[in-house]
Amino acid sequence: DFQTKYFTMTESDAVEYAKTRLNFFDADAELSCKEIGDGNLNYVFRVVDEKNNKSIIIKQAGPVARISDEFKVSPDRNRIESEILALQNELAPGFVPKMYQYDPIMNCTAMEDLSDYEIMRTALIKHKKFPLFADHISTFMVNTLLFTSDVVMNHKEKKELVKKFTNPELCEITEDLVYTEPFYDCPRNDVFEGSKEFVREYIWNDQKLAFETAKLKFEFMTNAQSLIHGDLHTGSIFVKEDSTKVIDPEFAFYGPAGYDVGNVIANLIFAYANGLFTIEDENEKKEYLSYIEDTIRDVIDQFTEKFKIAWDEKVTEQVAKQPGFKEYYLDSILQDTSAVCGLELCRRIIGIAHVKDITSITDADKRAKAEKICLIAGKTFILNRDSIRQGKDFVKVLQDAI
Ligand code: ADP
Ligand code: MG
Ligand code: MG
Ligand code: MG
Repeated sequence: DFQTKYFTMTESDAVEYAKTRLNFFDADAELSCKEIGDGNLNYVFRVVDEKNNKSIIIKQAGPVARISDEFKVSPDRNRIESEILALQNELAPGFVPKMYQYDPIMNCTAMEDLSDYEIMRTALIKHKKFPLFADHISTFMVNTLLFTSDVVMNHKEKKELVKKFTNPELCEITEDLVYTEPFYDCPRNDVFEGSKEFVREYIWNDQKLAFETAKLKFEFMTNAQSLIHGDLHTGSIFVKEDSTKVIDPEFAFYGPAGYDVGNVIANLIFAYANGLFTIEDENEKKEYLSYIEDTIRDVIDQFTEKFKIAWDEKVTEQVAKQPGFKEYYLDSILQDTSAVCGLELCRRIIGIAHVKDITSITDADKRAKAEKICLIAGKTFILNRDSIRQGKDFVKVLQDAI
């Protein structure tokens, strides 16, 4: 019985759920189901009516994280995810899956099946290119970040959203895994053997770096600037040639806008590092790496350009119209972007949650070299965040780290 008490579903439960609780399939449809989740936290069921070519996704929040039961995470995150999907679809139409139904008892959300798309990280590891990605993701970020800020929103309505989307448990995961543990010799870290010495010397022995990450952690916890996605890595993005869809917004809360932009850039750099050490053909390598460089540059520069245009069209806050304020505000977002890009680069190498772009580099020596580049770029993005602003500045940090 799905209506009285929460339990974690099996594949056959999900079929039964789709039949009895969703108004989606025909009454007599023959349904099959597979659990396709590959994330760290949740169960994702794909329910299919083969004959009528219809399918749906049911994502259920489990009571503990799959990655480790040390993380107790409230199933309420599924409410946040479903409400954010609905809101993002209004702010940035077409850039998220359609949300069909949220169920507060089973802590699950039924949504559009995007199986005709590919997870961007998987596609990038195959060295596929998506020329429209920078255009798409910059629009998504400007719309979701600027339009939820005090620049545009009525301040009382914005504060209602701040309340609705306080997300203490998932924020704590980020505070620990991104802002704290990677920067000291924490037992929960998971450092590749070939990188241990470098991590100790270059990251853990750097007092200045530790001090800067402390400042940034407080920025993350206290700057309720925009309703951020909070987990915008390439594993949360579905792509195909002409379309981009952002999924998995369960970490959403009011935080620094640059958090999302920085995450996207860092994960493009992981793809770059993968290409650098795994593409054998020199021409193919050169082309792929320059595609990633262009994409990094374009994400930043198109974000900046669209942000300014949208600001002029949508600004409602009187004092924000003062000359120079827009530039001041954007400048601080780009500074946060640089910092978060650096944090993400370090934490995916040192901390508990790694990325496949790096772990799939099978040659140990090459993997250590790739990790070193990520750490050098990462530390530079954190320490030099005052002076990294344009797309070309982000690309240069990467090039200088090689
Ligand atoms: P988690 O929060 O556990 O990381 P995700 O929302 O990232 O879960 O989903 C995990 C995986 O499930 C994705 O990488 C993707 O393969 C699949 N998936 C999630 N949502 C959809 C969807 N709407 N359509 C098709 N596949 C999906
Ligand atoms: Mg995910
Ligand atoms: Mg995933
Ligand atoms: Mg998730």
